[in-house]
Amino acid sequence: MICKKRTMPNELKALISLDKRLPNNNDKKHAVQKKLLICQAGYNGELEYDAHINEFQPDYPHAILHDLYLQHAGAYFQIDSLVITPSSITIVEVKNHKDKTVIKANPTQFIRIFQNGDRKPMRNPYTEIDRKIHLLKNWLDNRGIQIPIEGILTFAHTNELAIEHPSPEMKTMFTYEAPSHFRSLPVNEHILDGHAIYNLAHALLEHHKDYNPFPLADLYDINPADIAPGVICPACDRLGMKWGREKWNCPSCGHTGKTEHQQTVQDWFMLIKPKMTNRDFRYFTQLNNRNVARGLLAKSGLQLIGERKAAHYVVMKDKSPTH
Ligand SMILES: [Zn+2]
Repeated sequence: MICKKRTMPNELKALISLDKRLPNNNDKKHAVQKKLLICQAGYNGELEYDAHINEFQPDYPHAILHDLYLQHAGAYFQIDSLVITPSSITIVEVKNHKDKTVIKANPTQFIRIFQNGDRKPMRNPYTEIDRKIHLLKNWLDNRGIQIPIEGILTFAHTNELAIEHPSPEMKTMFTYEAPSHFRSLPVNEHILDGHAIYNLAHALLEHHKDYNPFPLADLYDINPADIAPGVICPACDRLGMKWGREKWNCPSCGHTGKTEHQQTVQDWFMLIKPKMTNRDFRYFTQLNNRNVARGLLAKSGLQLIGERKAAHYVVMKDKSPTH
């Protein structure tokens, strides 16, 4: 059973917003769009894996958790997908890029061959997975759980893959092959019973923390003044909705609504900084009226801290700005 579903990563949500608000002539535009494409492709590959793994429904107790971000002894590690069965745990790494990938053995090398024929060595994903196995093993040791952990590397089917002999040290397959791999796993030794699997999945969920790269202006060294303010119309995707007659109105397509500023507020926290004053709100929504701003902010689900000139809003604790 799926104990943790995948949602769009914070970084991808923020990059989509940043791309909309960063003018074409900004010198970081290219880097942002490149990163956006990589993140989007990665997420699509993971969604494809998720769709396939839904087919894996064994009759023994098990748990599947997608996209975990854990910490052990100060080291963070992210797991694309985790499968827990009574006799083993599998860490699944999902790769998705449109270029051809060649995997060579002795020594292991990953080479990407671009459409124009250029070849570029890529970071060895086996080393990455080994690191995650090591950290997860220590995490489990701390909780008195000893169980074999294996790693598999999967590629979305849009990839072109060439594995050269002799076969590499870690199981490598397309995402659509993952369910049959899991069905073929022997479940002889019952190290974890259904109750223990449930408890472990629960503990992992409790220790998971959403990866938070905010604010992106800092991450990409972008001057916040270069990020275009304004309320984006959800119907036509254009900036510049105007407040009038108690609602937002789009001068481009005529769409109206009362809650369109909420995405703008989220964009502020994802892109600019972790707090927002009434003045910040008015600047970023391009709204002139301080009292209307106060009213909208009061209904935004944000927490008000301080009084008068020091007053500002922050995202409620335990609540991601994008949820
Ligand atoms: Zn519109």
